[in-house]
Formats: sequence, C-alpha cells, structure tokens
Amino acid sequence: MTITDPTHTATTAHAASEATHASEAAHASEAADIDVARAALRARLLDDGVLIDLGSPGLYGRTGVFTRVYDAVDAAAVRSQADLDADVLRFPPVEPLAAFEQTDYIASFPDLAASISGFTGDDRTHRALLAARERGERWESFLQPADLMLTPAVCHPVYGLVTGTLPDGGRMFDIVGDSFRREPSLDPMRLQAFHMHEFVHIGTPATAQQHRDGRIPVMRELLESFGLEIDVVPANDPFFGRVGQMLARNQVEQSLKFEFVTPVYGHDHPWTAISSANLHEDHFGTSFAIRTADGEVAHSACIAFGLERITIALFAAHGTDPDAWPTEVLAALGL
Ligand code: AMP
Ligand code: ZN
Repeated sequence: MTITDPTHTATTAHAASEATHASEAAHASEAADIDVARAALRARLLDDGVLIDLGSPGLYGRTGVFTRVYDAVDAAAVRSQADLDADVLRFPPVEPLAAFEQTDYIASFPDLAASISGFTGDDRTHRALLAARERGERWESFLQPADLMLTPAVCHPVYGLVTGTLPDGGRMFDIVGDSFRREPSLDPMRLQAFHMHEFVHIGTPATAQQHRDGRIPVMRELLESFGLEIDVVPANDPFFGRVGQMLARNQVEQSLKFEFVTPVYGHDHPWTAISSANLHEDHFGTSFAIRTADGEVAHSACIAFGLERITIALFAAHGTDPDAWPTEVLAALGL
C-alpha cells in the first residue's frame, strides 16, 4: 500500500489528468481508425465471399476460396518443418477437465476459457427450460457443467501423454487442431474458434531453447515467402488481472515468447501476430511430471502457425482473388 501526500497527489493528479486527456484523445482517434480498418477488411472478406457471417462476433463459415488458401498455408507450414520428423498427433476440440486443470490455464486466462455444459435434468427441469425459452429467456442455466473444456491451445493435450521419462533426445510432435478462446470481436483477425498448427518439442532446457530459437528464422522465411512483411518481436500472452500484468512483464523480460507480426491494418496501427514461438521452461514438465532421460524436469517449447490469421493476412495483402496474386506468392504456397 502506498501512502500519498494529498496535496502532492492533487497537483500530479491534475497534471496527469491533462496529459491523460490528450493521450486519451489521441488513443481514441487511433482506436476509431483501427476499428474502421478492421470493419473494412471484415466487410471485404464477407462481400467477396471469403468468409460467411454466422451472426456471432469472431465466428465465420469458410468458403471454397478461403479453404483453398488455408489448406495451402497449412501444407506449406508442414513442408517447412518436415526436417523435424515430428510425430503426428491429432486431438478433438475439447479436452477432459482434469487435463485442462493441469495446464493451469484457468489461473492465467479465466476470461478466455470456455467449458461445455450438458442437460442432466429430469422431465420437470426440461419443462422449466422450455417455459423459460418460451418466455424468450436464456435457458443455458438449466445445463450443468460437463467435465469438458474447449481446447484453447492445441499443444495442451500432449503433455499428459508423455508423463514419466522421455527418451534420449526428447520428443517432437506435429499437432494441428481447433482452438477456442472466448474473445468475441469484429476484428476478422480475432476469432473465437480458430486453428493453429504447432510443432512441439519436449526435452532438456537446451533442446527446448534450441527448438524455439532454431525455428524462428525458418518460420520467418516461410511467412516472408508468402509476400508478407514480417517482424519478429518479444511478446506476452494476455494474462488476466493485476497478477497477470506481472506475469506478462516477466514473459517479455525473459524472452519466453516471440510473435511473428504483420501490418494487416497498415504501418500506423499495431501489427497483428500471425504465428508465435514459445518457450515454456519447466511449466508443463513440472505440472505433468515429465522427466528427461537424465532424470531432470523436462522443458518444452512450441511454435504455432495461426492458420486463419495467416490466411486472412494473405487476403488483406494480396486481395480476395488468389488467381491474381503474384506468381512467387502462389509458388511459395504451392498454388
Ligand atoms: P498463441 O498461443 O496465443 O501464441 O497463439 C498462436 C497463434 O494462434 C497466434 O500467433 C495467432 O496467429 C493465432 N491466434 C491466437 N489467438 C487467435 C484468435 N483469437 N483468432 C485467430 N487466431 C488466433
Ligand atoms: Zn503450444
């Protein structure tokens, strides 16, 4: 707790408040600008038949043209990591609550988490549900939490599978799947349901670091070959709350997360992360009791291609008709 001198506080509060007003005004117009840019891209993607509005922010149907590019992006991402010789694993879009618990996701990102509910009531409760529905009321409160969570990051289910001792050299996995994050938005780059293709290494502190760092130039080269302007920047996850701000600072200071960002909305607006490279240190090794062949706590690292974001960044950069894209971009995508 800080004890402040009220007079001093009053003066600084006044000065600060003027400064705040000026910067708030600047921020407000910047925010409005970027909202206009986001709305324009969203409208273009919908009007040109790339995405279909499903009536809920951040949820879209995908058309043939979207799928054509999306599949090409994914295939190119896989080709670029072929030398890893990773074990392929696929998981459903939901994970058992017990596994979700072990990741500690709810401690850091309660606002992004989402659970599955089901109806477990009797006829009477069903009638009450229907009556509420008839009155136009929300009826989901009649459902009970099931022991299932929507998977927020596709590498999560893998750690539980390698509990115990790793082989020499650790393990390398290729995992693609659905991610759900409860962050409704009209920004077409921010979806609630999306996919990431991850290449995950679990091994020693040195091999985890090497995986994360060694893949960064490869990922950068791939994304640049798509004709996208890319910067690789230290980043933090959107940890929740006051404690979260501290965690976010630590993550940046310790260079645990790097993002591949691109100027989807122009150079004057924040660039958007379309992929990331993450070092988890011993976070999952400790939570899931994973040990290296030497008996140390395992470290892990994952690289993640945000498939929808890369796809939409391509439409934003080159237009909504892939047949008119530069030939070198089409070649890089194998289109
Ligand atoms: P992260 O685990 O947050 O680093 O996510 C990996 C990648 O998934 C990011 O670099 C983005 O490309 C993508 N991603 C994350 N959140 C979203 C979202 N809300 N909508 C679409 N793509 C996302
Ligand atoms: Zn991951």
